[in-house]
Amino acid sequence: MIEHVDTAVRGPQAYALAGQALEAMEAAKVWPTPLNYELWLHFISTPDSPLSQEMRRLLEIHTTFTDAVSESLATEFLPRSRLSEEIRDAGVVLNRELAAVAIAIDKAREIQIQYADTLSDAKDQLDQSIPTNPLAELVGMLSKATRRIQRHTVVLEKRLESSHTEVNKLRTHLEQVRRDAMTDALTNLPNRKAFDEKLVALCSSADKTGSIVSLAVVDIDHFKRFNDTWGHQTGDQVLRYVASAIARITTPTRVSARYGGEEFVIAFTDESAVQIENILNTLRVDIASRALRRRSTNDDLGIVTISTGYATRQPEETPFELMERADAALYVSKRSGRNRTTSAEATSKPKVVTTV
Ligand code: C2E
Repeated sequence: MIEHVDTAVRGPQAYALAGQALEAMEAAKVWPTPLNYELWLHFISTPDSPLSQEMRRLLEIHTTFTDAVSESLATEFLPRSRLSEEIRDAGVVLNRELAAVAIAIDKAREIQIQYADTLSDAKDQLDQSIPTNPLAELVGMLSKATRRIQRHTVVLEKRLESSHTEVNKLRTHLEQVRRDAMTDALTNLPNRKAFDEKLVALCSSADKTGSIVSLAVVDIDHFKRFNDTWGHQTGDQVLRYVASAIARITTPTRVSARYGGEEFVIAFTDESAVQIENILNTLRVDIASRALRRRSTNDDLGIVTISTGYATRQPEETPFELMERADAALYVSKRSGRNRTTSAEATSKPKVVTTV
């Protein structure tokens, strides 16, 4: 995708594309910040790329491109995070190489010590047999030279050790960068990229082990209304509120993420439909149990409700198909009045499992 954009902005259409990107930004009331320009340039020049598809989806649901939205799109779709993965992998390789060199140096030092000892013994023996033997002097010199090399080796080892420490620090830093690239900055939940990767991994492991994967899609009801009425900052607080409730039900076998906008996802492993239904309803009731306040003015924001839909993976079903069925179940929840949970399996029968 990047190569495509790079070529396009150096080709005959370059200024036309740049102009279109700016026009599209203006039409969507997006500030022409460098980051937004990069995003919108992709949007214009690679309309079929995953980034453009996601931007189109956001535009369709009238999402405002706040800095947080743009940052999260960039993290997910622009290749910086891929770069950080590559750098991190390079760190791992470098560390492995350093470890191999350290072993080689250790071995060399061991051999040098043995060699110096052998020379020293030889000198002693020569001294004992012929006290003024010139060969003994020569061996003595060789022994001293070997000890000098040993001292240098110790210095080399110390330097190697500090390189090791530096590489380890770098690796930790890169791990952090990678974690950031996989985390939604506003809610601190994993982001869509992280979740997509995880879901693919869960499905392929399920194919081998026979475990059952289920997927729930959670959407905040009337979120746009919140945003329009109270402003985006308050909308962001609502997202954080829902995310923190979702984080509370997340366990090692339940992976959750902010999937985009006001949509969250949870993947379950080896949990029955009844368990999933219960947990989603508990989440729903928990979220609706508190009236929120607008911190700046103390206005009562009322309660926040969520609609959810979930599906259990059928044999051979792809993550995309599973997501589509969970989405369809969510749609049923929305259509039948919101603030409810619908199972895709029950809908195909068709029956809404739980109402308000
Ligand atoms: P936050 O503001 O960083 O708060 C984190 C957690 O600290 C909250 O988790 C809650 O356990 C506690 N906390 C913070 N302020 C108060 C408070 O005034 N009273 C009480 N009893 N506890 C407080 P929680 O409730 O899960 O909320 C997570 C996030 O959701 C909050 O992060 C905030 O961003 C948002 N949020 C929650 N309730 C409200 C609200 O009434 N108004 C606004 N504007 N945001 C809210």
